[in-house]
Amino acid sequence: MPLTAKSRRPMHTRIIVTLLCGLLPVILGCVILYMQAGRALKQSNRLTADEALRQFELMLDNTAQSARELLPLAGQNCNDVKLALREQVTRRPFVRSASLVWDDTIYCNSLFGEVQEKITAGDYAQGRLLLMSGNPVTPDTAVLVYRLSEGKQGALTILDGYHLSTVLRLIGRNTLLLLRVGPNWLSADGKVHGGALPALPVAERERSSSRYAFTVAAGFPEGETWRYMASEYPPLFSLLIFFGVVSGAIGHFLQERSWSPTREMQRALAAQEFVPYFQPVVHGDTKKWIGTEVLMRWKHPKEGLVRPEMFIPFAEDSGLIVPMTRSLMRQAAQWLGPVSSSFSEPFHIGINITANHCNDLKLVKDCREFLSAFAPGSINLVLELTERELIKPSDVTLQLFEQLHALGVMIAIDDFGTGHSSLGYLRQFNVDFLKIDQSFVAMIGIDALSRHILDTIIELSAKLDLGIVAEGVETQEQSDYLSAHGVNFLQGYLYGRPMPGAEFVNALTHH
Ligand code: C2E
Ligand code: CA
Ligand code: CA
Repeated sequence: MPLTAKSRRPMHTRIIVTLLCGLLPVILGCVILYMQAGRALKQSNRLTADEALRQFELMLDNTAQSARELLPLAGQNCNDVKLALREQVTRRPFVRSASLVWDDTIYCNSLFGEVQEKITAGDYAQGRLLLMSGNPVTPDTAVLVYRLSEGKQGALTILDGYHLSTVLRLIGRNTLLLLRVGPNWLSADGKVHGGALPALPVAERERSSSRYAFTVAAGFPEGETWRYMASEYPPLFSLLIFFGVVSGAIGHFLQERSWSPTREMQRALAAQEFVPYFQPVVHGDTKKWIGTEVLMRWKHPKEGLVRPEMFIPFAEDSGLIVPMTRSLMRQAAQWLGPVSSSFSEPFHIGINITANHCNDLKLVKDCREFLSAFAPGSINLVLELTERELIKPSDVTLQLFEQLHALGVMIAIDDFGTGHSSLGYLRQFNVDFLKIDQSFVAMIGIDALSRHILDTIIELSAKLDLGIVAEGVETQEQSDYLSAHGVNFLQGYLYGRPMPGAEFVNALTHH
């Protein structure tokens, strides 16, 4: 079907639909990319936290080994074991200093030798680890103390916080990476903080060591997912925008195609796809071809031959019916003009005209042009105006019909019996013919009421001295009835279907 019966959507609705078509793939694509970015960040944080944990455990292994070697020396005279302490500090890459403890009191230190300093075992997470912001030697550098004790003996080895923060910095280059020991935590800038860890809203990951009392936390600040998308996905965004534009364009195109009958008909008019078909009108008594009705067909390139009901209403709405009728009249004149000199009596040519066409006087010019294609006096041009759509009498219309009559153009009321034309109307427009609607003809021999109406119309036309045409004659019974009742013109499948110009002209010459 070339056109649908629905009217065109309003402009703003079409714009919204086009925008939605364009935005949908972009929005969906962004949602998918956002989820993908979230997964990528989680995966990256998992690897970062795992790697940091591994590095810290390696450092603590080294520090713990040192404490284990020193523990048996605890209790011995500091001067005797001082060298052993210094040897550990020198040999072990991560140990910055070492101390021996007796009865929870540090009594010997690798740097100062003999000292006296109380320690509280409870300060150490699981009795083993204490993260401090500094010690008397380097008050501004974080240290991680590893404590080993057995009875009254104890050994403390101190891991330099510098190594820890370097790991946090290097491994978590794009990630916020933190090390928590007991109530304190160390950030990548080497500072020790107390209290709860800061919020890591994006892709947070915490890993606790199974061997030492520490936890590593990795995460990103708010908005990192968008930043990641902006830095990693520009080519995909370009692709999404491309899809959006294509999808929007397809949406727009489909709407235009399915919702623009006017444009489609304008195209068809320019391509001369509206062509005339001719149906013979025969004489009531002799059944000789004495005229024709010109019926429009749309030779659609894809849909084939389209009947007028499918497109005439749109053509009327858009006003295109006027140029379409004009084109139809020209084509009809081209077919019939050349054979008109052979007509022995005036040949009736019926053309369907809509009320639109009667709004100005251009119809007079169209009819004059039409008549000029025929041998003088060889035809009667009959304009068929449907009774369903009456023309409003006005100065212009009255003037129009006066001029048409002066040209010798005749007027027929089409589909008579289905509308509400009055006698006044028939007179005002100087009507020459009534075309009985086919629904009454179809009821001959079937429905008594319809036959009464038919008889009344026939009587009325006789009284008003109007010619009468019966259309839709399909059976011999109908034909006989109408002829017997003096209907002078008959039209219907019984005598001939609407046919293309070449076929009609060919058949006409044989009649
Ligand atoms: P209409 O003016 O009443 O035309 C008669 C319709 O009855 C035509 O349909 C014709 O093919 C059909 N017909 C003829 N004999 C028989 C028959 O024995 N049995 C049956 N069942 N039908 C028969 P068509 O060609 O499909 O046209 C339908 C309507 O479209 C026309 O009704 C007319 O109102 C409109 N139309 C056709 N061409 C034009 C045109 O050029 N301009 C305008 N404004 N309207 C047109
Ligand atoms: Ca008609
Ligand atoms: Ca009709």
